[in-house]
Amino acid sequence: MRRFLIAGNWKMHKTVSEAIELVRELKNLVKDVSDRDILICPPFTALYPVSKELEGSNITLGGQNMYFEEQGAFTGEISPLMLKSVGCSYVILGHSERRHIFGESDELINKKVLSSINHGLIPILCVGELLEERENGKTKEVVEEQIREGLKNVNKDAEFVIAYEPVWAIGTGKTATPELAEEVHLFIREVLSDMFGNEKASSVKILYGGSVKPENAAGLLKMENIDGALVGGASLKAESFAKIVKFD
Ligand code: PGA
Repeated sequence: MRRFLIAGNWKMHKTVSEAIELVRELKNLVKDVSDRDILICPPFTALYPVSKELEGSNITLGGQNMYFEEQGAFTGEISPLMLKSVGCSYVILGHSERRHIFGESDELINKKVLSSINHGLIPILCVGELLEERENGKTKEVVEEQIREGLKNVNKDAEFVIAYEPVWAIGTGKTATPELAEEVHLFIREVLSDMFGNEKASSVKILYGGSVKPENAAGLLKMENIDGALVGGASLKAESFAKIVKFD
């Protein structure tokens, strides 16, 4: 059985002191949770101090992005070794804001996915269609291409997570209905099965992201192919993120 993974993507929020305050509160609220995985992805500047706060806790740490090289003349970039050195075990890759604001291509994202795996990080590959693509009936086509290109040359024994985040649902307050999300999640699992075989496909966690809140989390997470959530806005308040973590 797949264990639920509830992940918080803090995006470009929280200074170091704000991050510490949030993580202290959160740690306390979720300390008794042991039947699901909890992940937070603070901005780079807060990773190290947050990792110190997380020592001995049930919350794991991830980066929001990385470059695929280990080191070198890449001003402004962060490497997988650097993420590892501050205690990260996951990294979000191909988030729609990276794709659409910073112009990241499937090809670049694939290099990052391969590099993260080579360095022992678990990538969370984000995929999702724009509103216009959904309205034109292109959702599956877009998602399939992002999955196939993003996971090109990935070994079937590698651990990775997929996050389906319809772009029109991110930060907009518009959530996909559980049924609508499930339809895409099931489709993603079929694509994974075609690429890696049935056994692997059924072990991969597929998270849903896009305006997940305490009020809608349980409805989404009860769907068969929704194995967790990637939470943006609602992960910035300890109480609301803890409620999502503890959904039942
Ligand atoms: P949101 O963001 O929960 O604020 O919609 C989700 C995400 O972008 O990962």
